[in-house]
Amino acid sequence: MIRDLVLHNTLSGKKENFVPITEGYIGMYVCGPTVYSDVHLGNCRTFVSFDVIYRYLKFIGYKVRYVRNITDVGHLEGDADTGAEDKISKKARLEQLEPMEVVQQYTLGFHDMMRIFNVQPPSIEPRATGHIIEQIEMVQSIIDNGYGYEKNGSIYFDTMKFANDKEVYGKLSGRILEDLLTETRALNNQSEKNNPADFAIWIKADESHIMRWNSPWSVGFPGWHLECSAMSTKYLGKTFDIHGGGNDLKFPHHENEIAQNFGACGCQPANYWLHTNMLLMNGKKMSKSDGNTISPEELFTGDSPHVSKGYSPMVVKFFMLQSHYRSTLDITDDALAAAEKGYKRLMEAYKHLQKLETQGLSDEADINDKIKDLIVSAYGDMDDDFNTPKALAQLFAIVPMINSLVDGKMEINTVSKNTLLMLKEAFDDFIDNILALKSDLDTGGNSGLVDGLMELIIDIRQNARANKDWTTSDQIRDKMNALNIVLKDGSDGTKWTVG
Ligand code: AMP
Ligand code: ZN
Repeated sequence: MIRDLVLHNTLSGKKENFVPITEGYIGMYVCGPTVYSDVHLGNCRTFVSFDVIYRYLKFIGYKVRYVRNITDVGHLEGDADTGAEDKISKKARLEQLEPMEVVQQYTLGFHDMMRIFNVQPPSIEPRATGHIIEQIEMVQSIIDNGYGYEKNGSIYFDTMKFANDKEVYGKLSGRILEDLLTETRALNNQSEKNNPADFAIWIKADESHIMRWNSPWSVGFPGWHLECSAMSTKYLGKTFDIHGGGNDLKFPHHENEIAQNFGACGCQPANYWLHTNMLLMNGKKMSKSDGNTISPEELFTGDSPHVSKGYSPMVVKFFMLQSHYRSTLDITDDALAAAEKGYKRLMEAYKHLQKLETQGLSDEADINDKIKDLIVSAYGDMDDDFNTPKALAQLFAIVPMINSLVDGKMEINTVSKNTLLMLKEAFDDFIDNILALKSDLDTGGNSGLVDGLMELIIDIRQNARANKDWTTSDQIRDKMNALNIVLKDGSDGTKWTVG
């Protein structure tokens, strides 16, 4: 049976009971990356959050079609809608590459990073450049419905007309049209527009613009917001269940998406809008311009003045999931170090749990109820707007009980077979499936290939040490450290751990 869910809907600003359009099915669209530079940690936070949401929706029994796009045209510098250079064209010009070379390089890099974070690929990953025809058709529908007008080969969305006809403009972001008018008036290149709040949906390309297509109005390219309207409609229908993205996209991107969908199809595109909050570092917005930034790679290797050491990808992911997706998340070295301790404690308990066996037949001891209550609460927390920090806290409350059972402080048979089975299942569900916190290397010795290779490396190092070949043995340890694998020499041989 599918579980009941409560979601925070940005459209209403409230938590709402989730009701899918078609029973048992969910259509979800999330704005993907603009592939003109390496994916940054803020992007990773958003995609990790939606991956957990995707996984949980599937886990509770929905069939989910998850569409996450690749923006490879139309996103202009400074998020402008006219008069600025396309981010991908600019990178191509600076590096003397074809725009599609830029796109390929950073799409592959993005996919690699998603794999490192154990993020599942979406069901469909459409590209803006692959859907130019659909975008042109949508512009035509918007014009036909009276919400678009042409100026010198470019098409603008008539925001004022839309706002007067439908009272939805500004609802998502809470922006008032008068504010927008004063703000946008100050921007450059507004001269072609009837009204400063209007935005471009098709832009005539000037001579220098390399990414361009034929259209009924001009040789040009689509406005940034249009791709998401066109591709979500194509793959999920005019109205679908969930639309997601980072907070920074609420305005203008999502507000304008809604306007375009109304303009073309006459309806609200998504019933529930979910927004992730921003990633900060040391209390400030992560920003490349003032040096307050760290790349995922720097975080993994520790090669940054912002961290005292490297943190493994799964520690970073665990750190992200320790805060709710709607809260800001502040990266600090102290918080990461604390997350690392927490992650190791959880994974150790998980490893021990797999080996626990009980003969207990009776559920009478208190511990059985305690464990069951905590497990039920953990799933309940996920049902309540995907509250991962609370769910993790329930698992952590079980960890001392697991540890007591392992070290014999608590008699194992006080736990019934029933309870232990439920506990093992819950830890599998959360760690392996829903939160996906287990990387291939974090299996703690269960993965045959990694284990075998590590044994070989440790043997080579032992031989080097026996031969007093310290150069080789140190080299092996340092190389392992760089990969976040820590070798610990003890009386019973060398053990390895990740992170
Ligand atoms: P972009 O590549 O800038 O179009 O962004 C891709 C996705 O990452 C969008 O959903 C953004 O809202 C999200 N995003 C961008 N910056 C951050 C940040 N600092 N924290 C969290 N999410 C972000
Ligand atoms: Zn989008």
